[in-house]
Amino acid sequence: MIVYRAGWVLPVDRPPLRDACVAADDGRVAWVGPAAEAPAGEARDLGPGVLMPGLVNAHCHLELSHLAGRLAAAAGFVDWVERLVTTRGEDPMDTVRARTAAAIEELERTGTVAVGDVSNALAHLDLLEDSSLRARVFFELIGWDPAVADRVLDAAHARLGSLNLPDTITVALAAHAPHSVSPALLTALEFVHRLGLLHSGLLAAHGVQVDEADCALLAARGATVVLCPRSNRALDVGLAPVPELRAAGVRLAIGTDSLASVPSLDLWEDVLALHRAFPSLEPEWLVRTATRGGAEALGFPGLGQIAAGAEAAFAFTEGPPSLSDPLAFLLSGEARLRGVRE
Ligand SMILES: [Zn+2]
Repeated sequence: MIVYRAGWVLPVDRPPLRDACVAADDGRVAWVGPAAEAPAGEARDLGPGVLMPGLVNAHCHLELSHLAGRLAAAAGFVDWVERLVTTRGEDPMDTVRARTAAAIEELERTGTVAVGDVSNALAHLDLLEDSSLRARVFFELIGWDPAVADRVLDAAHARLGSLNLPDTITVALAAHAPHSVSPALLTALEFVHRLGLLHSGLLAAHGVQVDEADCALLAARGATVVLCPRSNRALDVGLAPVPELRAAGVRLAIGTDSLASVPSLDLWEDVLALHRAFPSLEPEWLVRTATRGGAEALGFPGLGQIAAGAEAAFAFTEGPPSLSDPLAFLLSGEARLRGVRE
């Protein structure tokens, strides 16, 4: 048994604990509580700072990592998409893989323990398998021409059936955004509902163009909207109406989107972006959405909290010994989260 000790522990499902320990055994949390009452075990004193559940990045495109910095001069969303389409095939496969591997390392290094990854090629599943991450990979189907839809689906199912994956990785079929069907439908989330796609397994990434009726529909269907504030800003598509989505009871999670639109895959940077855009969002809510919110959205019940039975997959930031408000420190811009795994 490993016993981690930290200046603060944020369990997420209960208030922060000062000078606390988390005991982990065989990859699972066995105990969490005050350091003075901790069970015996192999001590790992992390020092002053904050230990919290590992972050869950609910929307990313790891296979686009080789495009980092390449589309930065794009003038708006449509121009960005056009550049993406013309540029993504330019690099040799070994470059694409090397950049994808570096992106996975960046996720691990910055405290992320699970990722919702959108892929067209499924060419990097072995890299995910070799990592410490849990992944739910959305095998994205584009080209929903009704005439070929059956063939596309059959081929996709055959591909999925041929995969031999560990239980840390699951792959699901996903439809691309409504805008790949017709530009006129870009703002019409209603359209997705009419296709019968809106259900609790749906992750609506970005969720920028939603009105009150859309919010109510998303909530009723139990769909999750993944907030990607830095990407939205970079592509100049506006900001998701977080208070309205919340008020309507829509499930929310946070994602970075890809390195084709953001400068890093550090999910905490998106939390800080939300904090700056909506200062009234409670710090507890932001922490929960970046951890448990993503875990629920991706179907990882063992992640997103520090409690007995949860997975021992944490994030830790060092902090000053005098730290008295761990949540304020996390949102100060000085916190640097890194992954801690047994
Ligand atoms: Zn995306």
